Amino acid sequence: MAKGRDAHQARVNELNLFGKDLARRSGRKCELCESQGVALKIFEVPPVPKSPDFDHCIFICDVCHEQIQSPKQRDSDHWRCLAQTVWSDIDAVKALSIALLNTFTTDWAQDTREILFAEPNISEWADTMQEELR
Ligand SMILES: [Zn+2]
Repeated sequence: MAKGRDAHQARVNELNLFGKDLARRSGRKCELCESQGVALKIFEVPPVPKSPDFDHCIFICDVCHEQIQSPKQRDSDHWRCLAQTVWSDIDAVKALSIALLNTFTTDWAQDTREILFAEPNISEWADTMQEELR
């Protein structure tokens, strides 16, 4: 038990080392919904690598975080931000956004999918995490 907790804490400590760079990259805005002036958390975009990897980390707000974890609570209006973030220059943001977009069947989601372009490695990444998001 203690061992698991230590391992978890060690990972949190390692992830926190990315905090400064993530704050800079994000401009202290949620990298999904662009909320400002809110607490931001490091989220590891699945599949979560064995050891923390900066390229899998994004900086997001509590609302995005909770709704990613709980598919049933997802509010489609909140996620209209995906229409922008599927074009992100940040691979982890783009891949997660595409995978999330695919969980919506609303008009805006369909319109976005129609014009969407993603590099093959990003599409593959999105496919890999798709099941985890449903
Ligand atoms: Zn957010």
